[in-house]
Amino acid sequence: MPDTHALGILGGTFDPIHFGHLRLAQEVADALSLSEVRFIPGGTPPHRAAPHSSAQHRVAMVRLAIEDNPLFVLDERETRRDGPSYTFDTLAALRAELGAAQPLVLIMGADAFTAFNRWHRWRDIFALAHIAVAHRPGAALMQINDTALQQAFLQRRTDNGEAVHRAPAGCVIEVPITALDISATAIRGLLQARRSARYLMPPAVLEYIEHNYLF
Ligand code: ATP
Repeated sequence: MPDTHALGILGGTFDPIHFGHLRLAQEVADALSLSEVRFIPGGTPPHRAAPHSSAQHRVAMVRLAIEDNPLFVLDERETRRDGPSYTFDTLAALRAELGAAQPLVLIMGADAFTAFNRWHRWRDIFALAHIAVAHRPGAALMQINDTALQQAFLQRRTDNGEAVHRAPAGCVIEVPITALDISATAIRGLLQARRSARYLMPPAVLEYIEHNYLF
């Protein structure tokens, strides 16, 4: 068994980053003994409307949110590219940099995994990384409607956290995390309504939002 510790990857729009993202990263890292979690803010998202805030602001908010956690690393590769950034391409680039043996764990909420079959080259992603699916309020895994995704999930699922260190890619593992029903959409709604968004994100992120008149 290779003694390479698995590295976590958390992609997102982070518009803005909030405690839901941070607990997701921390709890999955703890549950699976990940050596680090890379936060990768997306450029132009292929599956959804353009983010409200610029890439520069979203990156700055992630930097502030994670700066006191030695386990967390900011990776700006997607916002530095022009055009859409597909997770497949990002993982292929990481794989090329880190080598064939390095276990990679793509972290996502259950809401993201239920739509995973709509991602660019989703089947090929299983050859590049494991997937850790965290339970999030309102998005049970039972809601997988796509037969091909359901089949892939059933074939690849494991309950054994060790499995993500034993192979570089290919498993799907469910990780129960503290349910925090926080979303960036709801936070933007609060701020647009001039209501407080305190205690939903790190104070430094909220200060940055206020200072830069975001949302
Ligand atoms: P929006 O409300 O704009 O859709 P979001 O809050 O869902 O944003 P994203 O940047 O789209 O945030 O999410 C990135 C990843 O983090 C996704 O995999 C998503 O499932 C996960 N995630 C976001 N919020 C939570 C949360 N509260 N609990 C668990 N996972 C979360």
